[in-house]
Amino acid sequence: MALQIISHPSPNYDARPEAQPIDMVVLHYTGMKSGAAALARLCEETAKVSAHYLIEEDGKIYQMVDEENRAWHAGLSSWGGKHGVNSRSIGIEIVNTGHEWGYTDFLEPQIDAVIALLTDIKARRGIKPSMVLGHSDVAPERKEDPGEKFPWDRLARQGLAVGTFQGGYDAAGDNMLSYFEAIQSLKDIGYHVLDASQAGDGSIIGGHSASVLAFQRRFCPAALGQGLSPMTKAAIEWAKRKMV
Ligand SMILES: [Zn+2]
Repeated sequence: MALQIISHPSPNYDARPEAQPIDMVVLHYTGMKSGAAALARLCEETAKVSAHYLIEEDGKIYQMVDEENRAWHAGLSSWGGKHGVNSRSIGIEIVNTGHEWGYTDFLEPQIDAVIALLTDIKARRGIKPSMVLGHSDVAPERKEDPGEKFPWDRLARQGLAVGTFQGGYDAAGDNMLSYFEAIQSLKDIGYHVLDASQAGDGSIIGGHSASVLAFQRRFCPAALGQGLSPMTKAAIEWAKRKMV
């Protein structure tokens, strides 16, 4: 069945840099009270934001920017050491109130539409499952969308994305990655990790926490907020093998 896509153009885009292949999809939630309000804002010239697509709760798909052009969805962002992911990505906004307004579950018809659209994009562009990411993955210090409720495993079952960690792990934390190995592995996966600094007592502070949270939302929501716990470290090792 052909995809039903409703054209709803936004003026908020520019040209992609030349010789920049499209090799990534970034998923967002809208984080507004209604889909209509989000669609209006993404098409309002003064807002200077947009995405290629928006998917309503009932599964309706709107296209705002042609894929060949660069939509303005990710802002300051990086992945795998490369900054500015708008240049290489397709941005999809998924209507959801987000953490600020009560963070409801994503709805079945909506996720069916996400899968249909991603299937179409993958067929046309050959985007690897490991390159279908969340906004918080590419901007961990600023963003938390699409968040820990997003059903990555449904996408994974269709071969469209890497799913979440389901494996066993040693709760005692023996034979685990060291702090430095875990941080290096997060960087190897693609995350931007702020440098740690030494506290007065010689311990290591700060830096990595935003990236660890983003990682947990995306790959290990059961460990969200637990820091570099044994489950998180096991998930990092697992994800590093998957994200190639
Ligand atoms: Zn976003």
